[in-house]
Amino acid sequence: MNPPITIERPKPYLLKIIWQDKSEYIIQLEKMREECPCAACQGEEIMGQRISFGIKTFLPGMNELEALIPVGNYGIQANWKDGHHTGIYTWEKLRQLSEKYTLSFSDLEQLSQMEDNKQ
Ligand SMILES: [Zn+2]
Repeated sequence: MNPPITIERPKPYLLKIIWQDKSEYIIQLEKMREECPCAACQGEEIMGQRISFGIKTFLPGMNELEALIPVGNYGIQANWKDGHHTGIYTWEKLRQLSEKYTLSFSDLEQLSQMEDNKQ
């Protein structure tokens, strides 16, 4: 799968991804973190036995992105502000998340209003 053309952060809590087929998606970082593909977050299965479960407690900074680091040419590693950095998102995974969580224009309006009210 081809990498996206660009990954931007239009707002601190949003990620915008433009793919080579020109499709554009904006998703909340919160959703990206929720779907962190690493074993600690998703739980691990060995020989069909579930041996650990994802940690779902809220940590300050967990939905804030510090950096996205390219991994080979197949994906990116997300460094979150709570120090979590073991999640590697392949392009396939990122595309899946884009399609699953993409925000409509009215979702974006609502989110930005919620953010304004916080201040
Ligand atoms: Zn994780």
